[in-house]
Amino acid sequence: MKKIYLSSPTMHGDEMVFIQEAFDSNWVAPLGKNVDEFEKGLAEYVGKSNGVALASGTAALHLSYKLAGVTDGDVVFCSDLTFAATANPISYENGVQVFIDSEKDTWNMCPVALEAAFKKYPNPKAVVLVHLYGVPAKIDEIQAICQKHGVPLIEDAAESLGATYNGKQTGGFGEMSIVSFNGNKIITTSGGGMLLTDDEAEAKKATFWSTQARDPALHYQHSEIGYNYRMSNIVAGIGRGQLLHLDEHVAIKNRIYHKYKSAFADLPVKMNPYLEYSQPNFWLSCVTIDENCAIVPSQIIQALDEVGAESRPIWKPMHMQPVFENRDFISVSDKPVSADIFARGLCLPSDIKMTEEQQDLIISTVRKCFDV
Ligand SMILES: *Cc1c(COP(=O)(O)O)cnc(C)c1O
Repeated sequence: MKKIYLSSPTMHGDEMVFIQEAFDSNWVAPLGKNVDEFEKGLAEYVGKSNGVALASGTAALHLSYKLAGVTDGDVVFCSDLTFAATANPISYENGVQVFIDSEKDTWNMCPVALEAAFKKYPNPKAVVLVHLYGVPAKIDEIQAICQKHGVPLIEDAAESLGATYNGKQTGGFGEMSIVSFNGNKIITTSGGGMLLTDDEAEAKKATFWSTQARDPALHYQHSEIGYNYRMSNIVAGIGRGQLLHLDEHVAIKNRIYHKYKSAFADLPVKMNPYLEYSQPNFWLSCVTIDENCAIVPSQIIQALDEVGAESRPIWKPMHMQPVFENRDFISVSDKPVSADIFARGLCLPSDIKMTEEQQDLIISTVRKCFDV
């Protein structure tokens, strides 16, 4: 039985051409043409003027918080329903996360809860908005609130590269945004990330910090703390090759999502929802089980595991994480929306290389859990 993955790397061969170029020119490290071209190509795709290729999406988030000026005791409003990588780097700068609950229409940051958070904490340093599982958030509403309060919006588009909102790419809205090329993302460099900004000075500063903050001098001189966060020219070669196939990956993920959706139309489940004027990249297909139904996500995860298919719980909300137990959480509903999605939801196998037969097996396995 061949294992069916949640979301694994899909390579095409073009990656090797760019890696070979790097070898042939001996630009294996540190920088070189692949880094330049990957930054240019990706920034253009997203619609930002500058990209800084980094070792991970987490590193990109860290530098974006530094660029926003986050320091000791500064509040950052952060999506509650996300991967810990969104929230952790705020602590690297001794900032204080305030988690904002989700809304039901996209599972992302609730604009009403965000407005409520501004009443309680009038001077946050930044708002970091995640587009969960590749579904664009209510960007217009969130952006309007950020502008009204004069606070920069940082988009964590790690999961949503290729998704659009009103025809514009996610990652193109915030003052700064980040994407990830981790192994499970829609395109991968094995590991990597990028910080995107229209402000050239910001991009230069991020590059400076990412290469050990070396002052312009012949000798090694440093006036600031730096990091070793830069992406290598080999890794960027993988990225250049992958970028050629991003739209194709989105199209396949779209087909997977809609096949699940029609196959489950008669079950007491709902696919992860999106706004009609947005186009998700469908990175992961997710479902929630209806409230009055006795089936729980772990039963489905177990049944899928028994047929060799990998599924996962929804990210556990940040306000429920032991490491953040002393952080504030802002919700405007009696029952937190993020916790409810976590309790009733799961991520289905969404691998690009999954065959029709394999997806049929997953569908019949899920249907059996509901006795149909
Ligand atoms: C994957 C991910 C990140 C981190 O990216 P890495 O490249 O793995 O460091 C950040 N935020 C979200 C929402 C993610 O899913």
